[in-house]
Amino acid sequence: MKYEDVTIVNCSVCGEKYSPGSAKIVGNRNNSLVVHIHCDNCKSSMITIISKNPTGENTMTMGMLTDLNYSEAVESMNMKAIDADEVLDIIENIQ
Ligand SMILES: [Zn+2]
Repeated sequence: MKYEDVTIVNCSVCGEKYSPGSAKIVGNRNNSLVVHIHCDNCKSSMITIISKNPTGENTMTMGMLTDLNYSEAVESMNMKAIDADEVLDIIENIQ
């Protein structure tokens, strides 16, 4: 699984393409990666989930805007793992 795949999508706030390297893995759960993406253009950040669909392709599911920077996101994930689970549950329900 490659988290670089996030560069195929645009920022949901300003519409600019995310630059390579703007995404960092926060954590993972089962077959899903939790990724923090920072937009160089509008300085917004997003937490998103990348998971494999049944055909084996990586898909990026809906993300959430966040005020957390990367290290804060990692800290938050580690301290409050339940929150990450809740995010994943919400996304899994949407799919
Ligand atoms: Zn942006």
